[in-house]
Formats: sequence, C-alpha cells, structure tokens
Amino acid sequence: MDKFKNLIRDIPDFPKKGIIFKDITTLLKNPRGFKDSIDSLCKPYKDSDLDVIAGIESRGFIFGGAMAVQLGTKFVPIRKKGKLPAETLQKEYALEYGTNVIEIHKDAIEKGEKVLIVDDLLATGGTVNAAIDLVRELGGSVVGAAFLIELAFLNGRDRFKGVPVLSLISYDEE
Ligand code: AMP
Repeated sequence: MDKFKNLIRDIPDFPKKGIIFKDITTLLKNPRGFKDSIDSLCKPYKDSDLDVIAGIESRGFIFGGAMAVQLGTKFVPIRKKGKLPAETLQKEYALEYGTNVIEIHKDAIEKGEKVLIVDDLLATGGTVNAAIDLVRELGGSVVGAAFLIELAFLNGRDRFKGVPVLSLISYDEE
C-alpha cells in the first residue's frame, strides 16, 4: 500500500519531542488518494451487515463519516470529554502522549447493533480499547476496528483480543 504511504507526511517532534506524527492532511488533499483509501477501508465490510460506524474524534470522523455514507450505516461520534450535548457514558484511557477521556451518547447505539470502530491511526490501542468498552456497555456488538495507519511496533492490536483489526498501511518501526 505504498500509494497511501507516499501520501502521508511524517512530522517529527509533534505534538511533543520524540513523537513522529503521521500527518494525513496530505492524503486528504489528494482527491484520488482520499477516495481510494475510503474504498479500501470499506471493501472488507461490504457484506458484513454493519449497523453503525463509530468514529473517534477527530480524524476518525473524516474516515468513519465517509465510510458510513458509502456502506449505508449510521454514524456515531465518540468524542473528547465535554463536547457531546446529551447524556453520555465516559471512559478514561492512556494515550501514546498523555491521557484522555472519551464519551459516547447513551442513546447512540441500540442493543445488538453491529458496530465498526474507525480511527485514522492505531498507536498503543488505548483509545480504541476505551471505545470498545463504551460500545459494549451500550449493548453494541463490536465486529471490528478499522484504521488507515497502524504503528505495528507499538503492538496496539494485542490490547483488544477478539476484535478483528483492519489497517491499510502498517509501520514496523518508527
Ligand atoms: P492510541 O490510543 O495510542 O492508539 O492513539 C491513537 C490516537 O492518537 C489516534 O486518534 C491517533 O490519531 C493519535 N495518534 C497517536 N500517535 C500518533 C502519531 N504518531 N501520529 C498521528 N496520530 C497519532
């Protein structure tokens, strides 16, 4: 998947020293690259009968929103603390840099709905692990987690055993 790798830009020491930030804005401003990435992310789920795509703020909204339109599913935002207006469930988690709290609306998912969680990048897996917990607490069935990018050297996918992971591009070292 070098065509996608070539559209992603490395920004060293952002947002703090030692982090190599994978900047996807360079892919987003390439219409062909953006469309191809959405097509590739959707393809494995065409026959999965998904009900909901849950996108993680904020870059998960970009990819998850486009996937929901293409797959014909609902879209549910999982947001940082204090952004969702109605009643929420919350979960605290550790990030590759710092800690965070994410929330979901309590009425976002109905019992038994099949949910795919989407974000731009899988690093340590802390964010998605927290998102899986939130969806399950609402009675949703997490059928997978999909990412454009996986930092495989951080072994994030090992954190959510039993949930199949899709990533379009993977980095084995920093
Ligand atoms: P994690 O919870 O460690 O898997 O971190 C995933 C979240 O942090 C995603 O929402 C990513 O967008 C963001 N993130 C973590 N590390 C990076 C990185 N090196 N480059 C870009 N985004 C990152």
